[in-house]
Amino acid sequence: MAPTTTAATATPPASRVFDGVTFAMGMLIFAGAVAWLLGAWLSGPGPAAWSAPWSAGWSVWWSTSWLYLLSPLLVTVVAHFPVLLDRADGGIEIGFDSSVLMFLLCMLPVAEALVLWSIGVTLTQLTTDKRPAARRFNIGLGIIGGAAAAGIITALRGDELSTPHELAAVALGATGYFAIDFLLSAISVGLEESSSVLRQVVQPGSALAVACFVPFDSLGYLAAVVVRSAPTWAALLLAVPLATLLVATRAVTRGQEHARRLAVLFDAAVHAQALAETGKALDVMVEEARRLLHVPHVEVRSAPPGPQEIGAALHDGHRDLWIVAPARHRARSTIAADRQALEAMTAVWSDAFARLRLTEDMTHLARHDALTGLPNRALLLDRVEQALQLSMRRGTGIALLFCDLDGFKRVNDRFGHAAGDAVLVDAAQRLSGCLRESDTVARLGGDEFAILLQDVTCDQVETTCRRVLQALGSGAEVAGHLVPLSTSIGVAMAETGQTAAHLLRNADMAMYEAKALGKDRSVRYERALGRARVRRLELVESLRAAVAARELQLAYQPVVDLQTGRIVGVEALARWNCDGVAVPPDAFISAAEESGLVVSLGDLVLDLAAADAAALRRAAGGFLNIGVNVSAQQLCCGSFVQKVEQTVARMDGVGLVLEITERDFVNDHAGALDTMARLSEQGIPFAIDDFGVGFSSIGYLQHTPVRIIKTDKSLSAEIDRDERACGLLRSIMVMGEALGLDVVVEGIERDSQIEHLRDHVDATLGQGYLLHRPLPLDAVVQVLRKNRGRTVIAPAELTNSA
Ligand code: C2E
Ligand code: CA
Ligand code: CA
Repeated sequence: MAPTTTAATATPPASRVFDGVTFAMGMLIFAGAVAWLLGAWLSGPGPAAWSAPWSAGWSVWWSTSWLYLLSPLLVTVVAHFPVLLDRADGGIEIGFDSSVLMFLLCMLPVAEALVLWSIGVTLTQLTTDKRPAARRFNIGLGIIGGAAAAGIITALRGDELSTPHELAAVALGATGYFAIDFLLSAISVGLEESSSVLRQVVQPGSALAVACFVPFDSLGYLAAVVVRSAPTWAALLLAVPLATLLVATRAVTRGQEHARRLAVLFDAAVHAQALAETGKALDVMVEEARRLLHVPHVEVRSAPPGPQEIGAALHDGHRDLWIVAPARHRARSTIAADRQALEAMTAVWSDAFARLRLTEDMTHLARHDALTGLPNRALLLDRVEQALQLSMRRGTGIALLFCDLDGFKRVNDRFGHAAGDAVLVDAAQRLSGCLRESDTVARLGGDEFAILLQDVTCDQVETTCRRVLQALGSGAEVAGHLVPLSTSIGVAMAETGQTAAHLLRNADMAMYEAKALGKDRSVRYERALGRARVRRLELVESLRAAVAARELQLAYQPVVDLQTGRIVGVEALARWNCDGVAVPPDAFISAAEESGLVVSLGDLVLDLAAADAAALRRAAGGFLNIGVNVSAQQLCCGSFVQKVEQTVARMDGVGLVLEITERDFVNDHAGALDTMARLSEQGIPFAIDDFGVGFSSIGYLQHTPVRIIKTDKSLSAEIDRDERACGLLRSIMVMGEALGLDVVVEGIERDSQIEHLRDHVDATLGQGYLLHRPLPLDAVVQVLRKNRGRTVIAPAELTNSA
């Protein structure tokens, strides 16, 4: 019998002392037996049982004694077929080698039997691969047990041999042996594992062990009876039942082991399925593999098993790994069975790892943006919420930056979505690159990003804003083109009691303000901004309703030939009275552009202009141009060409000129240029509005279908006072002439401006409050009538006459 504990930890001192004492006592008994034997030899013939063959000569001695000499070997063989009593954490092995002891005790004098038994026990331990300490303990244990059995049998046997009395003595001797062996083993395991001895003794299988043990040992007695009454060779007949019993024992042991392993595997499957994170999974798996194989040394590594090892491959969701254990042929199982068990275990765990990986991926996806890999809105809000709580306790500052790329839509429209995605990824990297580790950058969607800054002062926030503006302000390289790119940042500093959503809303509002102020800048949230934003949203809603109800009107401002004073055209300007109050066009047009409402507003303006065209033509008494302002969004809209065609069809005898600001033109939206080209092929002229302040390179004028330039008000504002302003306007005139373009000077408010335009600039066409203010239809009809005397020649007629 022997402890089979799996504990790999250091043995407690009490356990070491106990095991040492057991071994010492065994050795003492062995030495005593040897001494007694030597003494008997030296003092002449001993008891008949062993001296008879000896003194009768070698051949006679050999005929019976080979059996005894073989007994240590038999002990070793039988000992390797034990029954195992164990639980998950360790247990006891019960060998039936003591049946040989019973035989020896029945056949030989006590000392001789004990010496042979001790040699057998030692041989058994030398052929196992247990730890040296365990082997020493087992040797001591076997010898003490043997001595106890010898004592009981000698005391109870009496003089007669092969009687029921002797059988009873042997059965009691076997029981004594078992009791001592079982108890000492239990104490040893108990001490080693620091658990209760009772727990070791009372365990499932103990009863089975006693039930097997005594009958098994009685087999030794049977052998003794056979050898006493029949020729010695007849003992060989016992080999068959012995072998059968050993095989049966092994089958039972392995069957039990198999059942135990299934239970462990089932447990492992339950644990593996219940596991929620990969972090500890490998540790748990190794612990379960130790339990499964009953070996302390199991490891997970990337290298495959070596020659003295078994292993099973596994994938933990990230890497290819091996779980490896020592390869040992043992009573409870074979190397092949161990490998199979390990493979079953990894199959269970591989499933779990795949599930964990999937869960991890899904959690990551649910909380991150797939394109840039940055945290998404949900994760950002979580982090902001945590940061808010932390900052309340620590009293530190938190800022949330809402960044919206300027000009991103242009990239998407012009170069396609793949290029747009590349720009977003690049922007995400640049953002991450200019922040601290502890800051969080998230993508909120589209071209919107947010940055959470923790433990910051206002100065630090400003510095960060500058860094971000710089990082994103240098344009983006798309398909070999450098596309202008910048960002507008709204900053909100956390206040006590604020929620994450609240903070994000404030930052968002501040970002809108940054856009409204001209983009590429940061604006810090203030309460007034919130109110302005709400008003703006209300404005958009009212405007939406007004456009739907066609409640907008047009004012017309004449464009005049400066040499003759003749009106050559009018510009249609949208007017909106909201609740009886006139809303400034700049305010509602920018709100319409921001909200996308400008497309339907533009359609309405075209309709209104077409409806007024006949009256205007009649009043003018000849050809007249109507300039209509359009924004880039309209040009990008698929139905725009058709809309313009319908409008033109209704404007017989009136020319339609489409005005687009230079700013919109610079931000060349893909599609916008196409639309312009298609419309100008149909003879519809374009004017560039607010020319001179949009920072365009004038090279584009050569390649675009533009017929008219309208110089920005600011260019004419100072011409009568500033020589350089006058020079600038003159050079625009020269350029227009060279390119064959008409130039309209806007913003004429004073007589002195007109004089300068005539005398120094050579301007031909002008528009301004001094000449005519924007007027309602009735008023402009009156003005046109007065102007009638001088007819205007239509461009078509001009071309025909040329
Ligand atoms: P714009 O196209 O440059 O129109 C000329 C603006 O200058 C008009 O302002 C007009 O009233 C003003 N103006 C004319 N003469 C003078 C002057 O001598 N001095 C000064 N200081 N201003 C003068 P308004 O009507 O307020 O329109 C502002 C802008 O709103 C327009 O600028 C145009 O860009 C936009 N807009 C107006 N109607 C529409 C429309 O139907 N569609 C689109 N997309 N935009 C429009
Ligand atoms: Ca205009
Ligand atoms: Ca203008």
